[in-house]
Parts: sequence; C-alpha cells; structure tokens
Amino acid sequence: MLLGHKIRIYPNNEQETYLKKACGTARFTYNWALNKWMEEHSGLPELIALKDTWETDYNPDRRKSKKQAKKDRREAITKAEGELRTAMRRAGERIDEGGYRKELNSIKKEKYPWMYDVTKCAVQLAIKNDFSGAFKHFTGKEEFGFPRFKKKGLNDSFRIDYTALTNLPEIRQGYNYLEIPNMGQPLKMAEALRFSGKVYAVTISRRANEWYASYTIDAELPDNQRTGCDDDNQVIGVDLGVRALATLSNGKVIEGSKATRQYAGQLRRNQKSLTRKIGSKKDEEKSKNYREQRDKVARIHKKIAYARLDVLHKLTSSLTSNFSVIAIEDLNIKGMLSNHKLAKHIADGAFYEFKRQLFYKASMTGSKIILADRFFPSSKTCSVCSTVYDGLKLSETEWRCQTCGAIHDRDINAAINLEKIAKSAYT
Ligand SMILES: [Zn+2]
Repeated sequence: MLLGHKIRIYPNNEQETYLKKACGTARFTYNWALNKWMEEHSGLPELIALKDTWETDYNPDRRKSKKQAKKDRREAITKAEGELRTAMRRAGERIDEGGYRKELNSIKKEKYPWMYDVTKCAVQLAIKNDFSGAFKHFTGKEEFGFPRFKKKGLNDSFRIDYTALTNLPEIRQGYNYLEIPNMGQPLKMAEALRFSGKVYAVTISRRANEWYASYTIDAELPDNQRTGCDDDNQVIGVDLGVRALATLSNGKVIEGSKATRQYAGQLRRNQKSLTRKIGSKKDEEKSKNYREQRDKVARIHKKIAYARLDVLHKLTSSLTSNFSVIAIEDLNIKGMLSNHKLAKHIADGAFYEFKRQLFYKASMTGSKIILADRFFPSSKTCSVCSTVYDGLKLSETEWRCQTCGAIHDRDINAAINLEKIAKSAYT
C-alpha cells in the first residue's frame, strides 16, 4: 500500500543553496503555467469577474466596518469562483499539462537556462502535479479555491519523481541518506525510512528554517495483521467532538491539543512585533530584525502544529493497535466548517488528518474501519432503546430518553451507537 513518510533532513550550506534554488525553480514554473493558462483564457467572462473580485476594494467609502468589508470580499470571491467552476465543468475544460511541459521544454534552454542547475523533476512535476493538481482540486468534488500564484517563502517545496530515475540505487533500509539528482553529496536524514518498499516520489519542503523530505512509498507490510473480530472488546465506537477531541464507547475521553490556546498570547505578541518591524516604505528591503521576527513567528506556528499532530498520532496508534473494528462518523467537514462557531474547534481537532492517519495505520495493523453514514443520528438516538430524540440541541450535553428513561452523556451515547453499528456489520 502507498504510505507517506516525512523525515527531517539536514542539508549543509551548499546543499541548502541547491534546495532553495530548486524550490524557486518549481515556484517559477508553476507560476509560469498558471499565468499562461490565465492569458489563454483571458476572454472568459467568469475569469474576468473573478479577477475583479481580487482587486476590488469592498470598502471604497469606509462606511463599512473592516470586518464587514472583508466578509463581503470573501463572499464575492466565493461566488465568482463558483461561476468559473461551473463554466469550466460545463465546457469539460481539461488542463493539458503535457502540452505546457512540452512548450516550456522548447523554450527553457534559451529563456530560462538556469533551470538546468537543478533536477528537471522540479520543473516537470511543478506542472504535472502542482499546477494540474490545483485545477483538479478547483473543479473537483472538494471545490477548492481558484489556484493562486505562489509566493516566495510560503510553502516552498519541490518534488522528485523516483519512478523516472533509473540510475539511483534502491533505497535501503537503515540508510539515512537521500540522493538527489545532480546534487553532489547525498542529504543526511534524521532517521532511515521505517518501511521497505518501492519509493515513487519525494517532496522536499521547508518549514521555518527546517527542511523535510516526504516520501511516497509502496510499502511492504509485515504479516502480523489482525483477522476479523472474535471478541466484543475488540470493537470500539469513536465520536469526534467539539468539546473533546474524541469520546470512545468505553467511556474514555481524549482531550484535544491545548496548544492553540496555550500559545495564543505568545503568538499575538510576536505577530504584533512583526507588524511593527515591517517598515513603512513601499518595496523597502526587509530588515534583519524583521526576518528574525518572522522566523520566530513561524517557529511558534510550527510548535502548535506539532503538538496537534502528536495528539492525533497517539490517538490513532492506540485505536489501531488495540481494536479490530473501529467505527467513526463520516463527517461532513465542509458543511461543518461553514458553521463558524464550530470551525475553530474542528480545525484544532484536525478531523481530516485523523481520518487519514486512522486509515493508513488500520491497513498496517489490519483493523477494519466502519464509516457510519453522515446522516445517521448518532447523538440523538438512545443507545438503550433506539428512540430518536429529535429535539436535541447542540448545547445539551446530557439528555434523558423520554421512552426508557436512560440518562445519556451526549458524546458517550454517540460513541456507543457507533460501536453498535460496527458490531452489526461484523458479527
Ligand atoms: Zn431510550
């Protein structure tokens, strides 16, 4: 099965220069393709409308509050993006990524000779994966926003396709170096790959001042997989919540990461200080103080992100190593995110990431995941007598069943209902 594995890498100065150059080349290529697409479609009325929303000042006479103006602008952009998406779907618009690559290849020797300084993958995959992927996400089911131009320093990355490279040695287990085409010395990694198997691709990325290699690997898995469900104790229902990160049907409650709140003050102070250092003149070169402060802010963001990830990894590892059948709700995350009160909590809980980890870890331990239908009323069904209590409000954390009199903790009740679904599916 395909797995992702992210490992920190430690480039020396010379290697770091190469990595930065490769990121820059990938970014330039992506922006080149996006710009070309926009030029080719400049007559599309929907694209013109979208571009207008980018530029329009929705607060021309300062009569609206800043907050309202921001909200209006966001709404206008969403509307324009919706219209463009519909038009593209109707026209069956496809990105001819092969054509773009061919064209760039034909001009790069003359126009962009510096592209040859780094691996050709950085150029090719910026179009093949990033650029065409951005449009796939835009017109696809997830309905992401219209692709934006990439900025320097924001999500710097490039990708290497190892299926296209045949002269590289197999990546051996226990070998903690990464070899990049036309980079002299191999890159040192913090650890060796934890899986053996065929490596398809590696994405090199930078976060604050740290570099990472994310492997996509077709891993060969050990044979110690679970088989079926022979014991009731092996089945668990997991209710992902707003108050706690997760509540299990055995009554255990897992709190989410407190990092966001814990670092909120520190982040605010440092961001304020960053704003003060930004400089007043247009196009003024950023000061050393500014750059140092910017890195400091990035480091705090990173701390928060890691604390969240850590909580999730512990939860998903414990679930998949202790239970054979795990039932969760197939949450309508998009619908929930549009509810702003819930949005912050959900972003914290990182449900997407939870589901992703759970599925890949389950496939390694052999646990089965049951996704309950998103319309299954897990919270408002009595887990004792199955009566549905339609009047349940979000604020009610405890409720009493009118039919059988059972008193329920909202989240535990939901988890027990999920466990019941898992049992009925597997016994
Ligand atoms: Zn009841």
